[in-house]
Amino acid sequence: MYILGAEERAAADRVLAQGNLFRYMPEAHESDRFEAELAGRLGTRYALATSSGTGALICGLAALGVGPGDEVLMPAFGYVADVLAILAVGAVPVVCEVDESLSLDPADLKARLTDRSRAVLPVHMFGLPSDMESISRIARDHDLRVLEDACQAMGGRYRGRHLGTLGDAGAFSFNQAKIITAGEGGALVTSDHELHERAFLMHDASSVYDGRSFDHPVFAGLAFRMNEVSAAILRVQLNRLDDIQAGLRRVRAQVAEALNGAGRLRPVPSHDPAGDSGTHLAVRAPCEASAAALQEAVGRIPGLWAHRAASLGHSFFEWDVLHERRGAHHRLHDPLAGDAPAQGPDQLPRSREILGRTVIVGYTLDAGEQAIERLGEHAREGAAAWA
Ligand SMILES: *Cc1c(COP(=O)(O)O)cnc(C)c1O
Repeated sequence: MYILGAEERAAADRVLAQGNLFRYMPEAHESDRFEAELAGRLGTRYALATSSGTGALICGLAALGVGPGDEVLMPAFGYVADVLAILAVGAVPVVCEVDESLSLDPADLKARLTDRSRAVLPVHMFGLPSDMESISRIARDHDLRVLEDACQAMGGRYRGRHLGTLGDAGAFSFNQAKIITAGEGGALVTSDHELHERAFLMHDASSVYDGRSFDHPVFAGLAFRMNEVSAAILRVQLNRLDDIQAGLRRVRAQVAEALNGAGRLRPVPSHDPAGDSGTHLAVRAPCEASAAALQEAVGRIPGLWAHRAASLGHSFFEWDVLHERRGAHHRLHDPLAGDAPAQGPDQLPRSREILGRTVIVGYTLDAGEQAIERLGEHAREGAAAWA
């Protein structure tokens, strides 16, 4: 969350005053409008509002027809929700190494393909775009579907095109930590009619309220609907996106400038620096100890925060359900039972090495000159330690 003001309060109030909190009430229009505005902004034919980013990922995978017997390839740096969504549809996550850019390494993706590979799930972490050109080429050559996890990348681009719109479908999250938020929420965008219909069926399986008819046969889904209060807030937040992003990019440039020249710290290379959504600055230290020293120093400055890449559920090394092969609430429902490939935490050495030296620096929109100055001082003092 970066800005939450009077306009969001007014939007929530408007819905509460009308009393139509459920999106398929005949008089309710906020979710419909939010979907139209989001699709319009991103340039996709469809957007489906959901109750979370995880829900959007599950709807996306279900829409693509991913299920038992399938493998879905994803990077070692993402979020545990990617693993959970793949397991939720009965498929097996196959985790690939990341490259220096903190995104799915196309060479390792290729190396892990089997005849069960069905889809690839690139994750644009902290707004850093994945190498979509290489990933799309491999997907084309090997008949894989592409679902982008753009949960952290709203507003980011790859070669001018919005992240989340480069694959068959893209998932966004609007939880409290994301660039625009309603506390919880998500969306799945696609330009494919059948995918949209299937995602719709998954998100509102019974589909009795909306009264629409489907070209695709109805199947049993779940409930991942958005509510009207969230949609009304998100419409305001979407209008603020450009301002939030411009502000974040400004602070990001100041943070980068302050750290410039601090020993051997380097910005993490990007597949499209112009497309970065601006929420964080990822920096690479020469070793784990200097990464820890940087994290500690940044963490003491109000308005800034820092965490190690291998924390907060973002790295492969924390995904215990995968390592311990507990892929469901019930054994007979568990895609990791049986002969699924085992991936223990001792695997993916390259990702461990890269993530261990990476620090993610975040900032508030009003981090201010003082914070930046203090960061610059720390950088000069710490230059020796971080070398
Ligand atoms: C936040 C996030 C999600 C899931 O979002 P929720 O809305 O919390 O379910 C998925 N992937 C990534 C990369 C995220 O950051």
